[in-house]
Amino acid sequence: MSTVSSKSLDESVQFLKGVGLARADLLAKLEIRTVGDLIFHFPRSYDDLTNVQSIDRIEAGVLQTVQGEVVEIEGKELPDGRRITQVVIADSKGKCVAGIWFNSLMIVGKVHYGQKVAFSGKPKWYRDYWQMTHPRVQVLEGDEAKLEVVPVYPLTEGLRPEHLRAAIRSALEKAAQDVSENLPTPTRVKREYPPVAEALWQVHFPEVLPQGVHARRRFIYEEFLILQVALAARRRSVRDRQLAPKLVTSPAIDQHIRRLYPFALTADQDRAVASIVKDLASDRPMQRLLQADVGAGKTAVAVYALLVAVANKHQAILMAPTEVLAQQHWQTFEQYLAKSRVRRALLTGSLSPKERERTLNGIKSGDIDLVIGTQALIQDDVEFAKLGLVVIDEQHRFGVNQRARVKKLGVDPHYLVMTATPIPRTIALSVFGDLDTSTIKQLPPGRQRVLTRWHAETQRERVYQRFQDEMKKGRQAFIVCPLVEESETLDLTAATEQCEILSTGPFKDFRVGLLHGRLSDDEKQRVMNEFRDRQLDLLVTTVVIEVGVDVPNATLMIVEHADRFGLSQLHQLRGRVTRGSVAGECYLFAGIATEEARQRLRAICRTSDGFALAEEDARLRGLGEFFGTRQHGLGDLRFGDLLHDFDLLEMARHDAIEIVGADAGLKQPEHAALRHAVLARYGTTLDLAAIG
Ligand code: ADP
Ligand code: MG
Repeated sequence: MSTVSSKSLDESVQFLKGVGLARADLLAKLEIRTVGDLIFHFPRSYDDLTNVQSIDRIEAGVLQTVQGEVVEIEGKELPDGRRITQVVIADSKGKCVAGIWFNSLMIVGKVHYGQKVAFSGKPKWYRDYWQMTHPRVQVLEGDEAKLEVVPVYPLTEGLRPEHLRAAIRSALEKAAQDVSENLPTPTRVKREYPPVAEALWQVHFPEVLPQGVHARRRFIYEEFLILQVALAARRRSVRDRQLAPKLVTSPAIDQHIRRLYPFALTADQDRAVASIVKDLASDRPMQRLLQADVGAGKTAVAVYALLVAVANKHQAILMAPTEVLAQQHWQTFEQYLAKSRVRRALLTGSLSPKERERTLNGIKSGDIDLVIGTQALIQDDVEFAKLGLVVIDEQHRFGVNQRARVKKLGVDPHYLVMTATPIPRTIALSVFGDLDTSTIKQLPPGRQRVLTRWHAETQRERVYQRFQDEMKKGRQAFIVCPLVEESETLDLTAATEQCEILSTGPFKDFRVGLLHGRLSDDEKQRVMNEFRDRQLDLLVTTVVIEVGVDVPNATLMIVEHADRFGLSQLHQLRGRVTRGSVAGECYLFAGIATEEARQRLRAICRTSDGFALAEEDARLRGLGEFFGTRQHGLGDLRFGDLLHDFDLLEMARHDAIEIVGADAGLKQPEHAALRHAVLARYGTTLDLAAIG
């Protein structure tokens, strides 16, 4: 974009023909301040008034356009003082439609007897003829019917659509030519999109509906292309410019590692291991996403990868999102590695300064091979002697930026990113498009699906009774509550209060513990240990237990206010009671739920496939919610919707790989505008210095 041209787009709308101060103020309420804002204020939809219906075929309640000659114009006052104007048109067969206006004289000056006009609106049958209230009127000159596709814009009070359209027209006349063409010509031609200025005109003033829709898709595609080029460029720069150590798996190493498992890996796990083994043996850093449904055995696969690194005399780290999870992983490793000489350390925020220093020194000198820990690991003062592999558990809690931070450790390790929230293919492609993926779908043998029931309050006693019976037989249970303390506004059952009531009431003969986010990490760990060691029968908890906590003997769960949880979250939660060989049971209680919440609760009871649920979740809540506020670090998309426009996303990804494959640095002149757009949007977020 040249300086001169961007200037016209940056100009205030106030100076546009027909805008002025007052309308500029109204436009500002829609976040429209510059000519460029106005040009990119796209219609929400279109009213297609070109779709003409003959009067004897019209249907009630559907937007349609009819044509005829004005045969009657009549105004009268109603008893309640309202003024009503009626204009009747008739077609060549004499069939009539009446347009009705209340308190509006506009129509009177607009039409006259004998004129050919079109009405667009939703007809209703009134007594013995068709009526449209406040139809849109188009005057047709001669026989050349010039009917319109009318864009429907987001508006604000006091701003009339025709004024907005006029302002957009002036903006386009003034500056459409100055909007930068970000699509390289060959790509644009291949996808049959019009040049940018033409496309902008077509979005706002399409001649026929498909033209407007197609032009709009161009901008969605463009937005996706910019994202996908950014991801492809990052992937390229990581792959091509960084050198990772070759970590080779010999048959001896393979046998040695497999002997540590008390089970055989499933076919899916073996496939994931095979991909990882291949990646690690290359000097290009592995960038792999390992996704699996809860409890499907990711950690077991990660153990394999970490031990390959250690066997190759390199250090390996496993990062967990929370202390509780880091501890949990540590205990898992203690089991796997009981008979191994791997020198290992747990690095968390709760180490004393002394212990911390000793651990850091061990990592720096290379005396420690394997480190498990939380974010503490990636703080600046951690130096590794010879880092070969980084495994990140629960990627969605870190976001893409976290990866960039680890990268700055000054080495080029291999990366394995694990997620227990199965990522819908759409999101995997768009947000993690620069990662290879391995998916474990199969659950370990003998694992049973969780019986999930959504119960009315009246069933509570029966559910408690069942818990009491089962707990007497030695099973353990969770009761999950959404908040820690009673909130006046939300009226949620607080975990603390709930715990009090339960431990003195229905479960007074059992040992009840409480786990919530306000406890210190030490206290949390103590409660978890008690529960794991069966010193507690029942754990009342907030969502602290959401991820990864693994107590096979706990097979019962109640979720209170289940309507407050997202689908993926509920699925994660019930995953806690699938760890044992006994089928888990999960009971959901919900107050008055919205229709959307009801859909969620029905879906979770119906489906046990985490991938299907994740798609459903993203569909129900929208992607922003699905990820939490901008958690993925890529910001919001302006035009596109990842789920709805998935075909465009795939097209864009395909083209992006082609473009970056031919011109990694986007140095060719025809890629200059695209490069500029990519850096402006994602340069910082994705650390794209390599192409900057
Ligand atoms: P994830 O990390 O995906 O939640 P884990 O690796 O922690 O899953 O495995 C969940 C449970 O299943 C653990 O108790 C683990 O010992 C067990 N497990 C993992 N893989 C297998 C397997 N192939 N056969 C039997 N049990 C397995
Ligand atoms: Mg796990």
